[in-house]
Amino acid sequence: MLTPPSLLSLVEEPHAGQPLDLLKQYYGYDRFRPMQEAIVQSILAGRDTLVLMPTGGGKSVCFQIPALIKQGVCVVVSPLIALMKDQVEALLLNGIPAAYLNSTQTSGEQRQIEQDVTAGRLKLLYVSPEKMQSESFYIFLKSIRISLFAIDEAHCISSWGHDFRPEYQQLNILKTHFPAVPVVALTATADKLTRQDIISQLNLNDPAVFIASFNRPNLSLNVLPGIKRVQQIIRLVDQRPDQSGIIYCQSRRSTESLAAKLEEKGYSVAYYHAGMEAGRRAKVQEEFVRDNIKIMCATIAFGMGIDKSNVRWVMHYNMPKNLESFYQEIGRAGRDGLKADTYLFYSFADMMMWKDMLSENAPANLGVQLAKLERMQQYSEANCCRRQILLSYFSEELGDPCGNCDVCQNPRVMFDGTILAQKALSAAIRLQEKVPMNTLIDVLRGSRSQSVMQHNYHLIKTYGAGSDLKFEEWRNYIQQLINIGVIEIAYDNHYALRRGILADSVLFQNRRIDLVKPEEAEQAKAEKKPKTKTEAVRDELLDRLKALRKQLADEQNVPPYVIFTDSTLEDMARLRPANAGDFRNVSGVGDRKLALFGKSFMGVITNFLASQARGGTNLKGATYLLTLELYQQGYTLEEIAHDRNLSNGTIASHFAMLYQQGYDIDLESLVSMTERLDIERAIARIGIENNQLKPVYDYLQGRYDYAKIRIVAALSGNSD
Ligand code: ADP
Ligand code: ZN
Repeated sequence: MLTPPSLLSLVEEPHAGQPLDLLKQYYGYDRFRPMQEAIVQSILAGRDTLVLMPTGGGKSVCFQIPALIKQGVCVVVSPLIALMKDQVEALLLNGIPAAYLNSTQTSGEQRQIEQDVTAGRLKLLYVSPEKMQSESFYIFLKSIRISLFAIDEAHCISSWGHDFRPEYQQLNILKTHFPAVPVVALTATADKLTRQDIISQLNLNDPAVFIASFNRPNLSLNVLPGIKRVQQIIRLVDQRPDQSGIIYCQSRRSTESLAAKLEEKGYSVAYYHAGMEAGRRAKVQEEFVRDNIKIMCATIAFGMGIDKSNVRWVMHYNMPKNLESFYQEIGRAGRDGLKADTYLFYSFADMMMWKDMLSENAPANLGVQLAKLERMQQYSEANCCRRQILLSYFSEELGDPCGNCDVCQNPRVMFDGTILAQKALSAAIRLQEKVPMNTLIDVLRGSRSQSVMQHNYHLIKTYGAGSDLKFEEWRNYIQQLINIGVIEIAYDNHYALRRGILADSVLFQNRRIDLVKPEEAEQAKAEKKPKTKTEAVRDELLDRLKALRKQLADEQNVPPYVIFTDSTLEDMARLRPANAGDFRNVSGVGDRKLALFGKSFMGVITNFLASQARGGTNLKGATYLLTLELYQQGYTLEEIAHDRNLSNGTIASHFAMLYQQGYDIDLESLVSMTERLDIERAIARIGIENNQLKPVYDYLQGRYDYAKIRIVAALSGNSD
């Protein structure tokens, strides 16, 4: 763990730097994301600011960069202690002096941190809302120079929101005590009421409000039929070996039973729900964050305290009851901006279960809740781009279909389903509008099931009229008919199916009904193309980089993504930097991380390249590194050439290249002084253009081979 002493060594003068330079220097990013820069400027201008940005949007740098630039310390109020620790560790690893104060620390530790603050040694101080309630802490705050208050998860202040925390309301006195200190409130909750509540509760003074798009284009949206779920989950997980993912389940019991089934199959899995003992919960969560457990079967209790950026997929074993919860839960995937997948298992039964539950509990706003449930259903059954539906729910418009949802990828095929509709309707009517969906389908298909035989349903006229379709197909069509209004469910009568508002026109006016061909339930589709050679190599390197990350993370006692995010490792595997300059160009590598980790990661890359070259795969740069390896083992230029079946000239050019890159190659010992002078004279006279040695070689009338000329050229800085 990084301790205060190493922290103190980081301290520098406040920065006069430009925001963009600081973004590169500390975080290793080349550009701001949309809105980040404008937010930074607003805060720097001293304005109160409200930031609404989806999870993973990049809220942290919005206040951290102003904190670096402004005099004094930025006080960050953050609701979750576990999260606070990770955030501070991430800052320290980026070279930004920060600390947190909360109830997990001894009073001695707290005093030490307060001293650091007083001495101006910290740029950011994270505190819990509880701490902000203490009078003595206010006295302390009054005694220091505060650059800025950042209120993270600001929706917790609103009793409208779903995460209301009474301690947050105490923050309403901030502005009274510190009228001159700007306040920035940040949240991923977008709705209007909450937004207004934040502004008024915090007494923000004419705040600048930034609302980023809530679109998360890197998340794929998929809905799968809610049948054979475990089987489908296994198929999906097998396509994603070693990736972290969350499966949200409706009940505590189902988290446990699903985890047991997956464990039995040998997956790295655990479960999490609010009924577990707190210590055990914390432990399981920690193991997941640290990549020791890959799959988490959880109720919605899981997630608030998770800052893990490399969750690669989220599945919903059951449909959530509204799109807010759904969006928040899938939002835990792909925070690093890399592609991540989401899958929702949908069955009409889940829908009915929610209806029952809501109606039983009969909350005051039952109507609102049912309407929300309906929007969720609409999303689940959509025949047009799902992202458009999702964003429109959040009052945002997405111009074109997204291309990254299952509907966009498999456009629906419509057909004239009038006859199907008539068959289903007339069966329902002949069954006196008394039977539920399963029985109706049995009758249509001519099944001899118990419920059919018992009631003599096999004697009615439409019995077997739909025997050409599978059960699942009928279920799908009937659901569509319900959605369109041809058939209705009698919730008050055991879910019997009866005539809907369109029934008569279908039956008696031959009204045309268009239906959608159901997706093949086994969406197995050879989803995966075989990897190209380049991809295979990159993935192998990526695995090694991840292994190193894990090792370093365990040594430092931080979650792996705090060392480097997945996207940084991917960039690294793509660029394969072998020197500090190139390493610094990897997205997510700032000065501090270059110094801390550059050497180890470059070591893995060089070894990898050399081993590839040994195996006959010549990646860019790899052949040099193999030469380097042999040279370091003590082989001469000629021996290496012989061993590798390459010319002396080629190996000499490797030496020259390595020398120029700063590797310790003793070029001087490879030519005598007279040779060197002779060749240098020739180079001075003829010059070397485009690395072409031939003119110099010819001028010297073949007295020296290309290897020697190459070496002298490198020694005298004449080649590139
Ligand atoms: P939020 O708090 O909004 O959920 P974070 O601040 O944790 O999001 O940022 C999410 C991820 O995006 C982090 O890995 C962060 O380093 C990365 N990130 C933030 N800003 C940028 C940027 N300008 N370029 C690239 N990555 C960024
Ligand atoms: Zn789409």
